[in-house]
Formats: sequence, C-alpha cells, structure tokens
Amino acid sequence: MLNLDVLNNASCRECADVTKAFEQTVQRGLLLPLRLIANTRTRKKTRPKGFPAIITNGKNTDDVVLSAEEMPFAALAYKFIVPRHYLGLPPDFISRPFFDVVVVRNPYESRNSKWDGNPEGMYQKARVRVMFHPAEFCRMLAKIAYCLTISKHGLCSVKSYLPDVILGRFPDYNYYVGHPCEAQSTMDALWSSGNGKNTLHRTLLIYDKTTGKTCIRCLISLFSPVGFPVYEVMVGELQN
Ligand SMILES: [Zn+2]
Repeated sequence: MLNLDVLNNASCRECADVTKAFEQTVQRGLLLPLRLIANTRTRKKTRPKGFPAIITNGKNTDDVVLSAEEMPFAALAYKFIVPRHYLGLPPDFISRPFFDVVVVRNPYESRNSKWDGNPEGMYQKARVRVMFHPAEFCRMLAKIAYCLTISKHGLCSVKSYLPDVILGRFPDYNYYVGHPCEAQSTMDALWSSGNGKNTLHRTLLIYDKTTGKTCIRCLISLFSPVGFPVYEVMVGELQN
C-alpha cells in the first residue's frame, strides 16, 4: 500500500496468509470507498468500478453502483482512544474493541448525484452497506508501522510488541493502536518536519526518549488529501 522498498521473503508462508486475510478484509470493506475516490491503483482488474448502494424516494427503490462523484461520503472511519499502552492502562482482552464512527466527507461529491439535486429529482435517499472490522483495521495499521520500522532499523535493532498484534495473538487492538497521542498542534509540527507531505499516504516515526529508553511510535495518515483520520501505533523499543 505504501511506497516502500520491497523486502523479499519478509514473511513466511503461514504469516503471509494471515496478513493477506485481514488486509483483504480492510481493502474490500472500510477502504473500498476511499480507494474508489482516490482512484488507487490495483493489481486486480476485477476491482469494482463503483460502490453498491440502494437509492430510494420512499416509493421507488433501485440497486445502483455509485461512482466516486456520487458517493455521499468518502469513508466511515473508526475513532479510537489513544493507545491504552500509552495511557498506562492494562490490556483488556475481554471487552470488545472500543470505537466510534466518524463520517469523512467526500471532497469530490458532485451535485449531480443520483438522489440529491438531480434533474429529475427522483431520489432523495441512498443507503450503502459498510462492514466494520476494527480489529482487522488495527492489525493492518500495526503491520504498516512494523514494516516501516523494520525496513528503517533492521529486525535486530527493534524490540516490538507488534508481531503478536499483527498475527492476531494479542486481541486488545486498541492497546497499541489508536488515536494520535499528541495534541493536534504537536502533530502538525511533527508532520511538517517529516517528508512525504503531499503524498496520498503519509507515515512518520517518532522517537520518544522520555522514559530513558527510545520508544518508537508511528503516525499513519492514509488517504491524507481526502481527510481520513490519522492513527498512531506504538511500535516498541529501539535497542542500544
Ligand atoms: Zn512467520
């Protein structure tokens, strides 16, 4: 997804199967409208050209496929708390992952959409179905943060919490992954100090030395120009 160097044979077969499964779930679910709107390149030729929806005016109902301009929103995004580990809270393996949902506006929505302001005025409402997979989404963010860190520092220099999260062995998904830890102003300053400012996806590694160790955190902004929320991942400790 990100424009990174490719690590050949980075995962063994079993782990690759595990990560492929949750990545597909997120790509085809939550990220589908975003990918449609951002017109992301894909290796598959069978990727749907639109987003399935039902439009209605109370009397007539039609199954349609919405184009990027017709999508009423760019995404329904998860809103988490900051990673529980950062807050010094213990892991919680019993409760379901906590999240709210925020609507991300579609910046490219055209006023000629099928249900609102169209010349015939036939339809007033659109219903779309979006599946929620917060655990899979957190695992995908964990994988992005982990791969970014390892590609920069090497496998032996990092003691990371994330392999267990990625492989589904640590089921408190808001423990290491969540809302950014810093205030918005601090985060803006961090972004402007990083590179890749104008790319579709942005990432930034943060080195926090407040505890005497070097703790690595990773800011991840997917589909930045569309306004998808920024998330933060606690990666682990940098050794020596
Ligand atoms: Zn493996």
